[in-house]
Amino acid sequence: MVDVVTKGTGGSVNFGGDVAIAGKTGTTSDYKDVWFAGYSPYYTATTWTGYDNNVSMETSAEKNLSKTMWKAVMSRIHEGLPAASFTKPSGIVTATVCSKSGKLPIAGVCDAYLNTEYFAEGTVPTETCDVHFSGMVCSATGLAATTTCPYQVPGVIEIAPSDDGSPGATKYCPHTPDYFTNPANAASIQAAQQAIAQQQAAAAQAAQQQAAQQAQQQIDAQADAEEAGGGEAPEDDE
Ligand SMILES: [Zn+2]
Ligand SMILES: [Zn+2]
Repeated sequence: MVDVVTKGTGGSVNFGGDVAIAGKTGTTSDYKDVWFAGYSPYYTATTWTGYDNNVSMETSAEKNLSKTMWKAVMSRIHEGLPAASFTKPSGIVTATVCSKSGKLPIAGVCDAYLNTEYFAEGTVPTETCDVHFSGMVCSATGLAATTTCPYQVPGVIEIAPSDDGSPGATKYCPHTPDYFTNPANAASIQAAQQAIAQQQAAAAQAAQQQAAQQAQQQIDAQADAEEAGGGEAPEDDE
């Protein structure tokens, strides 16, 4: 919960100082009610905002009012109090998980999504991330490549969840030997080959541009070095 206030939408309730706070907002549909419930090692407070006639709050000032009030009251009553933080109860452990799957991260694959979270002891996930797939990827379809896919390149992909929100299964591209001998697939095969040729051309162009840029930078650096070492004052400061 401390995380919710320091990292999440609750950042606006931080009243500075060294008193730890934790809390969470709650809303009913269409912002007819907004609560903020939060606490410090000293005080706990909950604020509610809403209209008596059940009209939605619309402006961001209205939607944030419960937090604004909470912060106003709590900062006032904490004035002059010494720094304090929460003590972590026994039986609570931290573990780093992949934020996309909530499961153990795969080294080098989930690196951009690492999140350290709190768990009751014994509930730390034991399965590894099933959202990120690292291996051969089909550049024609963006799916995991079959072993016989001619368009496979090493890569990492994110696997979309199933419709019910549960983790999706790894989907493989259709590029089996049978696929290529089936005349019905001729058009798709041609389209895939064209798309890949385009991707390769774009990549080659980007590499060329980068090389040209690096060469120019080298020339510039050399010119600067000669200017600095030559003892000749540059005529123009440009
Ligand atoms: Zn992951
Ligand atoms: Zn493929």
